[in-house]
Amino acid sequence: MKTPLSTKQVMRYNRQIVLPQVDIDGQELLAASRVLLIGVGGLGNAAATSLCGSGVGKITLIDNNIVEHTNLPRQTLFDESQIGQSKVMAAKARLSQINSDCDIVGIETSLQSDNTPLTREDDFGVDSSGVDSTGLDATQTDSSGIEKAEITTHKLFSEHDIVLDCTDNTQSRDLINRLCYKHGVPLISGAAIRFEGQLFVAKPGESQCYACLRRLFSAPELSCTEAGIFSPVVNIVGTYQALLAMQVLMGVGSVPLNTLLTFDGLQHEWQQWTLPNTMQCDVCDEQNKDTDNNDG
Ligand SMILES: [Zn+2]
Repeated sequence: MKTPLSTKQVMRYNRQIVLPQVDIDGQELLAASRVLLIGVGGLGNAAATSLCGSGVGKITLIDNNIVEHTNLPRQTLFDESQIGQSKVMAAKARLSQINSDCDIVGIETSLQSDNTPLTREDDFGVDSSGVDSTGLDATQTDSSGIEKAEITTHKLFSEHDIVLDCTDNTQSRDLINRLCYKHGVPLISGAAIRFEGQLFVAKPGESQCYACLRRLFSAPELSCTEAGIFSPVVNIVGTYQALLAMQVLMGVGSVPLNTLLTFDGLQHEWQQWTLPNTMQCDVCDEQNKDTDNNDG
């Protein structure tokens, strides 16, 4: 599906549209695209800035943290006046200034289970009919809490074209991976620590998933609080997530599947590591098999 561009928008995105791989068609695909971005920290700030500026039609931001002093070296959507504010609301305010064509939805919550409820319904722009601009039925009260949450999680994932995992812990990453495969939504996962970055693209039905990658690493991950993070590295990885997402949304170039991309910010080396294809996986095996069968 594409969203026709106005003359003003064609002028605005001219530097991208002149690229033959993008053209008007690609820009119209971006304008129709809905991105679910989970985690509005360093990765999420960089990814959202690039996606919003580049002309993506809708970005839904999920995070439950507030802006802190220690975020400011990396998280460039925020400024000193926003310390103490909700990250999704602060990011939404800045992104709306960058590109008023982009529909920014902020949801203050953290995904902790498949049935995570959404907690700040007043942020959804709920109108008198009870349905917000995202199509989420935020005022549903005639079901049990669990049923409501299931509907919400389903809608969150199934009503977006791609998910960017910009979180900082493996528990969230595992959950997001499972939900992406459950709902058939492509996933762009990013991680950064010290001077090192990692990127992984997973496409349900076409590729191995994040759980397949995780299985290869047994050591517990350190957080950036414990190990430190060099600010430009997290910005590079977040911006790279936006690049991969736009490639998938427009269908241009080749996106590395079954492959871990790593970046060393001290030695300036990008490397690609191919996952072994012999692993059993309870997240992606069934879906990939179904697709194989459908393909005959
Ligand atoms: Zn898998």
